[in-house]
Amino acid sequence: MHVPVHILAARLPRWLLPAQWPSQGGQPLLADLHLEQGRVRGLAPHDPDFSAPAGRAWHLNGALLLPGLVDAHTHLDKAFTLARMGPVKPGLLGAIEAMMVDRQGWTEADIHARASRALQWAYEAGTVHLRTHCDWWEPEAQPLAWNVLRELAQEWAGRLTLERVALIPLHLCAERETALRLARTVAASGPGALLGGFVHSTNWNPQALRHLFEAAQQCDLNVDLHVDEELHSGALGLATTAALVQELGFEGHVVCGHTCALAVQDDATALATLDAVARTPITLVTLPLTNLLLQDATTGRTPRQRGLTLVKEAHARGIPVLIASDNVQDPFCPVGSFDPLEALATGVLAAQLEQPFDRWSEALCRADWLRRGARALPLQAGSAADLVIFTQADAWGFPSRTQPRVVLRQGRVVSGQAPAAWSPSSTPIPVRSLA
Ligand SMILES: [Zn+2]
Repeated sequence: MHVPVHILAARLPRWLLPAQWPSQGGQPLLADLHLEQGRVRGLAPHDPDFSAPAGRAWHLNGALLLPGLVDAHTHLDKAFTLARMGPVKPGLLGAIEAMMVDRQGWTEADIHARASRALQWAYEAGTVHLRTHCDWWEPEAQPLAWNVLRELAQEWAGRLTLERVALIPLHLCAERETALRLARTVAASGPGALLGGFVHSTNWNPQALRHLFEAAQQCDLNVDLHVDEELHSGALGLATTAALVQELGFEGHVVCGHTCALAVQDDATALATLDAVARTPITLVTLPLTNLLLQDATTGRTPRQRGLTLVKEAHARGIPVLIASDNVQDPFCPVGSFDPLEALATGVLAAQLEQPFDRWSEALCRADWLRRGARALPLQAGSAADLVIFTQADAWGFPSRTQPRVVLRQGRVVSGQAPAAWSPSSTPIPVRSLA
């Protein structure tokens, strides 16, 4: 049975439930979801007396359920290139060097094949929304991958929303005119395109960052930056971005990925920057896998620092924080699987995150944190029945044992298999009114 109408006794994360949701023994009551034509018709505390026609309901018996997943920061253009490279020097700059050599052999077919594999893995993991960055090296020429990613966004439409960010080295925006020309090219390339930049102390140019935001404003583009991906306490990318967003009255949405440098700044400086970020609509994205691998990386020396941004302090200030995959099986990161749960599992250890299911699973589910406008929780009445149900995990050990899962898209199973125990009865039972 691939189209359940009632999903009963699901354990939902606390962040997704209304404040008045009843509890029992300190745990939120299990939930019943009622579906109709691929959408959520209603969500209510579990009613043990509810009966449905046989074969139309799954009884989850407390299995964990999340809305469709969001992977807010990936690099599909580079994915799966590691296997064909020689030795790669450690650290971020060594990885960039290896990538520059590999990309000389890229073709559209090569990029399409690697990115398609990534999207298939993401889809099977339960991802509904994926944002990829795309390296953009030249002020004039569009990178080969940009058009391939645009075609893939169309190929995957209806299964997965694919956004693409032009990842432009900051120095290309040193001239206002060049920044504007780049922004116009990005804006003209179709929906789902954003302006991005690599903002690092090695290429620091506050004027260029201003040009980037002015150009985005003029072309009505949202912005997604790699910011302060380094353990250098003098890095000014995030603080300057927050100030610019305020000063320019920037109307687009802004995402700042990495912001590792906050972790090595003195508390007063770092927290003042976060206070400034909290006054803007900036979303932070933390990338635990690559940060652990690339920060404080020197051959033959055990790393001493973790390289993560201040996720708890940001969360405490109400700043939206997403957790994402970043690089997968490329010179920046040899591991990874386009499964957001893998990034969360790493983040739980690296940042010592409490309540991974009830609190931090939100960092994998909030697509609204990537766009302008009002916040909207997923999985409300009327939203698509895009669900991920974990058949073997529980709220205490989460995200351990989350690999076995059933993925539903618009109420239909697209990956995994519902355990027989979810559909115990074959005898028709009268349906009680939901009213
Ligand atoms: Zn990245």
